[in-house]
This record gives sequence, structure tokens and C-alpha cells, in this order.
Amino acid sequence: MAKSSVDILVRGIVQGVGFRPFVFRLAKELNLNGYVTNSGEGVEIHLEGEESSINEFILRLKRDKPSIARIDEIVEKDSTPMNLSSFQVIASKETKVFTIPPPDIAICNDCKNELLNKYNRRYLYPLISCMNCGPRFTIIKSLPYDRSRTTLSKFKLCKDCEAEYFDPINRRFRAEPISCWVCGPKVFFVEDGKIVKSDDPIMIAAELINKGEIVAIKGIGGFHLAADATNDATLKKLRALKNRHFKPFAVMVKNIDFARKVAYLSEEEERILLGQEAPIVLAKKKEDSPISELVSPKINTIGIFLPYTGIHVLLLEKTSSPYLVMTSANPKDEVISYKNSDAMKKLSSFTSHFLIHNRDIYNFADDSVVRVIDGLSILVRRSRGYVPIPIPTPVNVDKVFGIGGDLKNTFAIGKEKEVFISQHIGDLSSYSTQRELKNSIRKFLRLIAQDIKVIALDMHPNYYSRKVAESMKTDMKVEVQHHHAHIAATLASNNLNEDVIGVACDGTGYGADGNIWGFEFLLSNLKSFNRLAHMKYFRLPGGDKAIIEPRRFAFSLLYDILDKESLFKFDLGFSEKEKEFLYAMIKSGTNSPLVSSCGRLFDGISALLGVCLFSTYDGEAAMELESIADENEEDSYSYDISFNGSEIVLDPSNLVVGVINDLKSNAPKSKISARFHNTVVKAISELSIYLADEYKLKRVVLSGGSFLNEILVKGVRKNLMSKGINVILPRGVSVNDSCLSLGQVVVASSEVD
Ligand code: ZN
Ligand code: ZN
Ligand code: FE
Repeated sequence: MAKSSVDILVRGIVQGVGFRPFVFRLAKELNLNGYVTNSGEGVEIHLEGEESSINEFILRLKRDKPSIARIDEIVEKDSTPMNLSSFQVIASKETKVFTIPPPDIAICNDCKNELLNKYNRRYLYPLISCMNCGPRFTIIKSLPYDRSRTTLSKFKLCKDCEAEYFDPINRRFRAEPISCWVCGPKVFFVEDGKIVKSDDPIMIAAELINKGEIVAIKGIGGFHLAADATNDATLKKLRALKNRHFKPFAVMVKNIDFARKVAYLSEEEERILLGQEAPIVLAKKKEDSPISELVSPKINTIGIFLPYTGIHVLLLEKTSSPYLVMTSANPKDEVISYKNSDAMKKLSSFTSHFLIHNRDIYNFADDSVVRVIDGLSILVRRSRGYVPIPIPTPVNVDKVFGIGGDLKNTFAIGKEKEVFISQHIGDLSSYSTQRELKNSIRKFLRLIAQDIKVIALDMHPNYYSRKVAESMKTDMKVEVQHHHAHIAATLASNNLNEDVIGVACDGTGYGADGNIWGFEFLLSNLKSFNRLAHMKYFRLPGGDKAIIEPRRFAFSLLYDILDKESLFKFDLGFSEKEKEFLYAMIKSGTNSPLVSSCGRLFDGISALLGVCLFSTYDGEAAMELESIADENEEDSYSYDISFNGSEIVLDPSNLVVGVINDLKSNAPKSKISARFHNTVVKAISELSIYLADEYKLKRVVLSGGSFLNEILVKGVRKNLMSKGINVILPRGVSVNDSCLSLGQVVVASSEVD
């Protein structure tokens, strides 16, 4: 038999995911000698042995790889045999080249079994982890990924852990974050700033939750506030303390069986819930659920997720309720608390009870959120479990940085043909998020080991993100229009580089004409765009104030179709003085920017129906309107499309007239909401089909927060697909503004070469 020798380089997500033990076992099984090591470029393997075995090795390397690994490339090179007599795993080479840091992984079944097995030495050890699960991104400071560069570096492995760490057939072989009762970080219960001595701190937390108390609990990426999700009184208190009246809370559910009791779950939704990313899934809530109405008031969905660390598993073993509200612990508009001392200070107004641990979180990460719409998984928030896995793009984006927008901020950095998107930073309205944005940029660039040549930013002149971008030193800065970034992000995430009709429907984006856009039909590719059509402009009286007061846009919609007397008769809860004031503002245009926005249109109709006059969180008016829509209603209202030279304008005035007539004749709101939705679906479909035909394009791309609306996505997809048009939604990134950073990177990269 022919003997041979080969060097193999494996690129991708291959570090910290059990790749070396897998390689070791495979080599042993196939009687191959050599070694495997992590390097800055990935995993390097040297093999010596039968040629046929080497071929089989390479085949199985791809086929049987650990489930959380991702192989992007395998480079093979013949090499000189060293006549080795065994196969070994050798320590990481210190190189400057790059690899991909892994994301955090939900507790695996093996660890869960050990955690609850009293004969296991990690019985009830809450920070249990192994090669297949545990913290990663949140504890890594820099690469190559090794324990010494994580926040576990200060915990020296005990003899037993060390034996596992060096035993190639052990599940903890070379698993960097492992620990145990003897050597590892521990969980503590803290009351009023003092550690309570106890053998079972988790039990103390559980008993307080059972009694209706709120407890702050540190997990993988930050703190949650935990409370019994079936206890109305507690949730009332939590809502008052957080000054959060309607925004839904996520509920951690003991296991999938209990999840089925509170939500209608499709196969896909169950798969996502049970997946290694363990995100929050927004599912349709069941009417007879034991969960308090205060968890997600006025909407028909509920956000649920499963325990994803040992702490959560044990907590839910001990609480009497299998349903716990677990909401990000942060004062309003601030990032999630993730440091012990900081959390105890900042969260003191919410609770004096803290379940903490001393495994430091270096990079914070909120829970990710997914909604399955029309069978497609759409990320609402991409953070823990997904970050920092890069998005492959069809173009070279090396060293291009996108700062994102001011709402739902993420930033992103390009490396060759991949974009690394940061964790969810949030809304840049507070000093705290602004500071964390700057900190996170510094940490992330170091982690990804990349510097910046070009910075891309939104056109909005008053965005805080612009200030940060302007303060950064680079060769070049590129402004990217908001909705172009939306469409480009969606294209790139689907690895597409071509002309498409892009439909961008959202709340607010600064337009190239200085007005606010948000209901746009663009002829777009990754480089440039041309605005082909948009919704008619309306005044937004009071600017930002009208965003939190949807009834103001309702007033503006009515202004266009009613005379002053009829307008003033319409009850939106305004005083006569306020009506005069708004009327004058709209008439003169004072502090009333022109907007063409799908989000505002939803706001206006929601307010006209009395569903939501005041919005307490982003998207509230639209979500509540969607929730009441009668899915069996097929009627719709009329609308106009006008062609003024090169500009096509969608005028929804007749739609508003239809809504008002229906209100006058006391039609059920569920029917009016459905007719409104059907109208928007029809208008988007008609324009998309017309434009796709006009420009001979087969693909229509949808992006923008409005496409988190299931009725819109379902309806538009159905109509377009029936005409043979391919509808593209983002893959692995969100439709909302958290995708802007990716879009900016891709668009700005075209200015470089
Ligand atoms: Zn595990
Ligand atoms: Zn140990
Ligand atoms: Fe947007």
C-alpha cells in the first residue's frame, strides 16, 4: 500500500468547537500518525499513513465535522513524511494571522445530564460547559482562542479538569472554558450588596421568585431580571419599576413540553428553540395559557426561549412556576448590565436580590430574537449565539467599517469577503449606550484583528453614530443612504450581486432629498440605487414627538382629506387648542418634516382605529394593529398610483377615506385592520410587479422593520411568486435597522476599488 504524507489547513469556524478532538479521534480510527494544532489561520493537520486512509480522512473531515463547526476551505499540500509514530494534539502556534472566534453555545444535552446526575462530579455545578457548549464570544478577549485569552484565565484547572482537558477522547479535551466545583468560578447569592453564605444560592433565588419577588440573574451575556410569568402582581410591579407599560417581556420556559402549552409552535419554531443558539422565538400565543396577560399585552405573540446555561436549568428545576419572565436587566435606553459591581449599582432600583457568578463577561450579548414568518426564519435581533459568525458577501469588503444607524445599532467590519457584525448595541440615545458603542468597537476590532481603511455611515446629519464615525481616523468616509443599506444588506446576505427591485418599508430613514423616507421602491444593486417610487409625502407634526404619538400622524392623514371642521370633529383625544396647534404646524410645515413612511402609515391607521394613540415602544402601534386583524377578511380599500414623469407616487388617501367610512358604519376593527393590511399588500405587490416587469428583473428584495409583519410578508410573497418573481428576504441578518451596518459596508466597498 502507498504511504504518503500531507499537510492540511482547515479554514472556517474550527476553533473552540471540538474540532481538534474530532480530528484526533478520526486520525486514530484510520491509523494515521501526525498532529493537529490551532493556528491563526484555522486548524493545521499533518498526516502520515496509507494514502487511502488519508483520502478517507479528508472525506470524513467534511462529512462528520462537529455540528457547530463550519468549514469554509480545506487546503491540502503534499509534505515530507517525518516518520511519526503517533498522532498528537500540539499547543497553539502563536501567529498573527486570523481565524474566527466562535459564538456562545447553549448548554448541551450531555452537560445537562451531568448537571442533574448526582454521581457526576459536576452534579449541580451551574457553570458547567464542555467542548460542545458554553460561553465563547462573551469571554474571549483576543485570538487565537485559548484559555489564557479568556476571562477564565485566572482559574487554574484542578487535577481532574486538567486530565479531561488533555485526554483526547474526553468531551472536554481542549475545551477552553471548562471548570468544576473545585477549580472554577462559582455562583453566589447577594442580598443588599452582601454575599449570603449558602450551599445552594440558586435555591434562595428560586424561593424568592416563588414568593413573587424579582431577582437579577447573571447568565452568559449579561443580567436578566427574573420573575414568575404567571404572577400578575409581580409583573405589575416589574412593569412599574422598569417604566415599561406594554413592551412584551420574554419568557424562559422550563422545557419544550411547557412551551407547547403557551404557544402554537411549528416544527421550524421548535427546531430554533432547541437549537444551539437558543434565541427567543416570537410565536403565536395560546389563548388558554397560564401565562399572565401582562407578559405581552395587546399582541397575539409571545417571546419564549429555553434555559441555555446550567444556572437557568437549575433555577427552573427549583421554581414552582415553569415560566419565568427573563428580561434584559438594564435601566431604560441603556445596554444590558454585564459586570457584577455595575449591575448591583444600576439595578438597585429594581431589586436587592442578585444571583451572580465570578466568571467575567468581557463582551456583553443580549438574547437574540427570531420570528418565523411564512416558514422563513427572520432574525429580529442578532446577538448571543450568532455573533461573531461572519456573513459571507459576494464582494471584497476588506477593512471597510460600517457604523450602523442610531436605532437598534450594530456596527460591522469587513474582512476580505466576509462581514463581521457586532452584537446588538441598541438605541444610541443615552450616554451609556454611546459609551458602550465606543468600547465595543475597540474590543470587537481587536477580537477580529482588523483595522479600518474606510468608514461608512448613514446620511442622517444628526445621528450620534455619525459623530463617532467622524471622530475615527480613516482614509475615507462614505455616506450610504438608509434604505439603500437595507436593500444591499439583504442582497449581500443572500450572496447576490445584481440589479433588483428593492422594497424598503420602515419607520424612519434619512432620504437623499432631505425628507424622511420609509416606503420606497428602489432600483438597486450593491453599488448604487435609483428611487423609482415611494409613498406620497405627509407632514409629521412635531417630528420625533409624532413617532411616540401615532395619533399625530393620524391627524396629518386626515388633514389631507377632510376640511377643517370635519377634521376637528374626529376624536383622537386632542384638546381644541392642540388641534389648532397641529393644524397650524401642518399648514405652515413648521417642525413638520415631510415623510413617506410605511411605519408612520401603520401608526396613523392604528391611531384612527383607537388601537394605539400613544406608542410606548418601537413598533407598538403596528404590532397591535396586526394582532387584531381578521385573517379571513379578503376585502381591501382603494389607493392611487400616479406617474409624474420619472416619479411614481403611491397615494393612500383613498385608503384613509375607506377606513373612515368603515369606522362611521361601525365595521369591526378586526375587519378594518385586515382590509388595511390587504391594501398595503396589494399596493406593494402591484408596484413591485410593474417595476420588475418594466426593468426586466426577476427578483424583488424586501427589507425594513415593516416586514416583520406576517400579513405583509405572506401576502406580498404570494402575489409576487404567482407572477414568477423571486422574493428575497435577508438571510442570517435582520430586516430592521440592525442590518444597516452590513449594508453600509457592502455599499462603501464599491467606492474603494
Ligand atoms: Zn456541554
Ligand atoms: Zn476543576
Ligand atoms: Fe430602517
